[in-house]
Amino acid sequence: MLQRIGLPRLRWPRLVADNSEMPASAQIDPRARRRLLDEISNFLIEHDLEVTPSNLLAAHEACSGINPRLARRIEWRREQGEPITQTWLEEATVVDPCAGKKSIEDLAKDMERGIDELSRASKSMRRATSDYGDELERRVDDLQGPCDTEELISTLSNFAEAMIARSRQTEEELKASERETAKLRRNLDRARQDAQVDYLTGLPNRRAFEEVLETSYREAQDTGEPLSVAFCDIDRFKTINDTHGHEAGDRIIREIAETLSSLCTKDCYIARHGGEEFVLLFRGVEPQDALAQLDEAREALASRRMVNRRTEKPFGMVTFSGGIADVLQCADPREALAAADQALYCAKRSGRNRIRLAGEQSRAA
Ligand code: GH3
Ligand code: MG
Ligand code: MG
Repeated sequence: MLQRIGLPRLRWPRLVADNSEMPASAQIDPRARRRLLDEISNFLIEHDLEVTPSNLLAAHEACSGINPRLARRIEWRREQGEPITQTWLEEATVVDPCAGKKSIEDLAKDMERGIDELSRASKSMRRATSDYGDELERRVDDLQGPCDTEELISTLSNFAEAMIARSRQTEEELKASERETAKLRRNLDRARQDAQVDYLTGLPNRRAFEEVLETSYREAQDTGEPLSVAFCDIDRFKTINDTHGHEAGDRIIREIAETLSSLCTKDCYIARHGGEEFVLLFRGVEPQDALAQLDEAREALASRRMVNRRTEKPFGMVTFSGGIADVLQCADPREALAAADQALYCAKRSGRNRIRLAGEQSRAA
């Protein structure tokens, strides 16, 4: 089924789940819509999956081709004769919850409130100064006419005292507001930083990577400097989790993050894309050279024999596969990532523990 509905669209897939990105035919052609609906329901029935909003969403993403990764993973699993269970589907559709996003928005709102407060305090101070200024002017005018000097001096002295007290109070309010705004700004900066870091490995996360990819793409377009992107995925990681447990799996993810970090220079930016997947951006590096660098890291890892320190059981050979794409050959950064992902898929299909270049897939497949 997926061969028919998903794969022909997988070549340079779009990753944006947005109706406007769907093929025009699917938007207007009732037969295409009917076919998509049939495919979605067949998928759920065939795999004995409940009709729930999340399953419908996953089935739609896979069947419509808007999530080519998911479609490929489903196809790959079917090829291997593995069942598409509820648990598997949930794992396969886990998305980066963009941890911290909400709190940044909240903090930004707090910050806005703080700034409003500051501006109110400063307006009130200005108003008070101007009110007292007017009043003072009136009293000075009075001095010029006939008046009871003693009474006038006493009034002026009371007036000056009140003015000083009020100014001090407003000044304190202003200082408190400034302190609060500075604290909010520090929190906001920290939250922004946290939202860019992967908690498990300490590497930048997917969001940070996509920002860097976007900027580097524009720069490379201007300068014509080469730009390569790589997508890596640990091989048979599920077996590691199943054999040694999730915590040991986490340690392996950290270990591989370390291995890949050895490539990290000002020209090579590495991030954890999610799960057991990593992405690398090679600035000023041709895809072939990026491949050579990544292949060295792959070999270094494959030659190691890691042992689970908690149980003394060997992990055996831990490897990863990778796909590399020439970013400037693609219409946009998303397409480049999708091309690298497609090359990764070819590396997996042709035996794992290898790196493939995008464009080579037809030869490898
Ligand atoms: P392949 O070689 O085809 O990539 O096989 P695989 O077993 O690595 O692929 P699959 O996508 O089936 O499994 C990935 C597993 O990674 C599924 C999920 O439980 C696990 N995983 C995802 N994130 C984490 C994590 O943060 N920690 C651990 N320990 N496991 C994770
Ligand atoms: Mg994976
Ligand atoms: Mg994997």
